[in-house]
Amino acid sequence: MITLTNNLEKTWENSLKLIKSEIPSASFQAWIKPAKLKSIDGNNIILTVRNEFNRNLLLQNYYSSLLKALSQTTNISNLNLIIEIDLETTSQDYMPVFSSIEDINIPIQTSPKKQGNNKNSNLNSKFTFETFVVGTHNQFCHAAALAISQDPKKSPYNPFFIYGGVGLGKTHIMHAIGNYVLKNNAKAKILYITTENFLNDLIFHMRQGKMNDFRSHYRGVDLLLIDDIQFIEGKESTQQEFFHTFNALKDQGSQIILTSDRPPKAISKLEPRLCSRFEGGLVADIQPPTFETRLAILFKKAEELPINLFPQIAKKIAESFPENIRSLEGALAKVAAYANFTNETLSIEFVEKILQIKKTNERLIDKIINSVVFEMNLDKDDLVSASKNKNLVQARQACVYLGRYANLSWAEISQGLGGRGNSSLINLHRKTCEELEKKDRTSNLFNLIEKLKDNMK
Ligand code: ADP
Ligand code: MG
Repeated sequence: MITLTNNLEKTWENSLKLIKSEIPSASFQAWIKPAKLKSIDGNNIILTVRNEFNRNLLLQNYYSSLLKALSQTTNISNLNLIIEIDLETTSQDYMPVFSSIEDINIPIQTSPKKQGNNKNSNLNSKFTFETFVVGTHNQFCHAAALAISQDPKKSPYNPFFIYGGVGLGKTHIMHAIGNYVLKNNAKAKILYITTENFLNDLIFHMRQGKMNDFRSHYRGVDLLLIDDIQFIEGKESTQQEFFHTFNALKDQGSQIILTSDRPPKAISKLEPRLCSRFEGGLVADIQPPTFETRLAILFKKAEELPINLFPQIAKKIAESFPENIRSLEGALAKVAAYANFTNETLSIEFVEKILQIKKTNERLIDKIINSVVFEMNLDKDDLVSASKNKNLVQARQACVYLGRYANLSWAEISQGLGGRGNSSLINLHRKTCEELEKKDRTSNLFNLIEKLKDNMK
């Protein structure tokens, strides 16, 4: 067993050199470099990392690179690589856990260190890593944010530029970085400001002839968080001033974090030198969350409210608000308010009504009808008429079947089909199911439904 620290360090150093050339430098700095080689025993090698998140990342993304490099430097074939969490350093660490839903981790509450009282930082103490749900849509951004927070002075990502659509968590993660840094160092000088306020402040100081005050204020911080930098678009003098602030901060080793609704290159009328500064650090995007992540976020928020959120209601909300997290939160808050008010268990129908979700479903039945009449070359008015024409009956059968397939209620299907009664819809559905069971490839109805079912996926 090799335990001599020197030997282990040397072996690890050599392995790092090999791995470094293979993977992006940001990932190398954040995830590989902090790992430690704990022991080599026969063909068993143990690496330790700081937390579960880091361990999962190595297992999922860099296991084969690590294996290759370590085999090469140790000359051990059939190497068995084990990655462990270093318990000594993790007790106070932020440690997200992977939930049973693949690729998502809902952070657990960590015992906070003494909270700093940096009153002028403008930080919102509610926006922390503990309340930030990680999914595939924001995983990279979160990983980088966490790496910066853990060691802002030595961060290789300066500036850190986060971009993405409205309500996807840019502001939240920015505050989370600030709060984390503050928690570890109550003396850190942190400043969060929206670009709009930065502009107003600049104009105010210019008018008052107090630019020196302005400069010393912004240039005296360790961590500057500027939100929605796209608003600097076309503002020449602000860009100039910001460029100098930016350089001064970078020169003194302060970390700068920026958010924007688009990448630097897409901000029009942005001075090229500023654009290249923005791109000179790390640029990370946040995408809209997947359905599973939306569900995870809803449960996390429900826990914070608190409200007892039933899975089928969470599912309904997550399905109906796909675009962003802000509207997801708004929907949940509304449901929570009603739940409080009525003091009853809310039904799906009631939730649909208060959130006006029905409209979406009505649109869905219309979409189904439109695609059926299009495929069969029919007239929509004829479809809802009383005619018993064979083609029209088949088209209705397809609509009813696909409507049920899309989990629409009989009432919703009826609305789309001119208010037909439930029993006639149920009959059409039963007839269709019987026909489909035959799996007759020469049947027009069978082929039509198969095709449209595919389109609906
Ligand atoms: P943006 O700045 O991108 O427009 P925000 O950061 O203001 O979006 O986020 C909108 C709302 O959604 C906030 O209340 C925030 O707490 C919440 N939110 C966004 N992303 C997450 C997440 N991953 N986990 C938990 N809440 C989130
Ligand atoms: Mg924002």
